[in-house]
Amino acid sequence: MSTLGCLPPTQVPHATAFIEEMVEIVAELVALGSAYETSDGVYFAVSAVDDYGLLAHQSLASLRSGARVEVNDKKRSPLDFALWKKAKPAEPWWASPWGPGRPGWHTECVVMSLALLGEGFDLHGGGQDLVFPHHENERAQAVALGKPFARRWMHNGMVEARGGEKMSKSLGNVLTLSDLFEQSDPRAYRLLVLQSHYRAPIEVTATTLSDAVSALGRLDALSGRLAEAGGVDSERSDPEVRDAFVERMQDDLDTPGATAILFDAIRRANVAFDAREAPRAAELTRGVLECFGAVGLEAKGVAEIPEAVLELGHRRDRARAERDFATADALRAEIVALGYAVEDTSSGTRIRR
Ligand SMILES: [Zn+2]
Repeated sequence: MSTLGCLPPTQVPHATAFIEEMVEIVAELVALGSAYETSDGVYFAVSAVDDYGLLAHQSLASLRSGARVEVNDKKRSPLDFALWKKAKPAEPWWASPWGPGRPGWHTECVVMSLALLGEGFDLHGGGQDLVFPHHENERAQAVALGKPFARRWMHNGMVEARGGEKMSKSLGNVLTLSDLFEQSDPRAYRLLVLQSHYRAPIEVTATTLSDAVSALGRLDALSGRLAEAGGVDSERSDPEVRDAFVERMQDDLDTPGATAILFDAIRRANVAFDAREAPRAAELTRGVLECFGAVGLEAKGVAEIPEAVLELGHRRDRARAERDFATADALRAEIVALGYAVEDTSSGTRIRR
């Protein structure tokens, strides 16, 4: 995950550390009449929640008619789900008012998220395959308890392999992230994720990956041009690039629209560099780098040459402008001693690896 540029989670909870809270919540739901005990466990009665089916966008009646008929005649409705499962011999168990057993998956999640994030937390995410029944059932428990749950839900599309095929073990088309990192720049996968809307499927194929790699090449090349330009004193970044980017991101996280704006700005920055409009090109480039940095994509051109080394180049340019050639030569020697090559260009000192 760190290779992909993902930040580590703040909390990595273990369900086993929250069993007491889970038992408490199940007991509360039983006391409220929203759950009932059977010979094999404790079940949640979905009829206890008026808007059950809200996330699935289906009514209780239509969910009921589509429900798989299970061999479990102990449940009152086929949609009712287990909050607590009584332990069968040799299964792991914890003590509860209903005897030894273990919590149901939906209960684990609702208890941990409410305990760690608090009531009415901002955002609950997950794959589209979790909308029903898992997230519907997490929400149902919170509603029955009278606790505000997630204020927003965001469900992401699945990763697809060649030709829209869902990636799955049984189809033998699974590409692991480790495989992918061996084949291409890890940033390429991050860019593919950004270029697909979060609700849409992400197509990961040799073609989409190589397109992403060449797009990153354009970003890196532009960042290299900024580093070479030197002498552009202003640190200003283009506010229009940033505003347009933010506007797209604020529209339901339109990352494909937002990245398209950045690639268009890359094109315009190159045009400005070609036209020797260095200050304009530099502010466009800084706008691009700032926005890509905000979504965890760093250009390589800048990272390769440390800021301190670039600063020596800037000092050399100032010394040359003041015709202080002794200082300029000393600075050149200092940069070379640090392992970099120094070239003189029309726009000043260019430092390369
Ligand atoms: Zn969950």
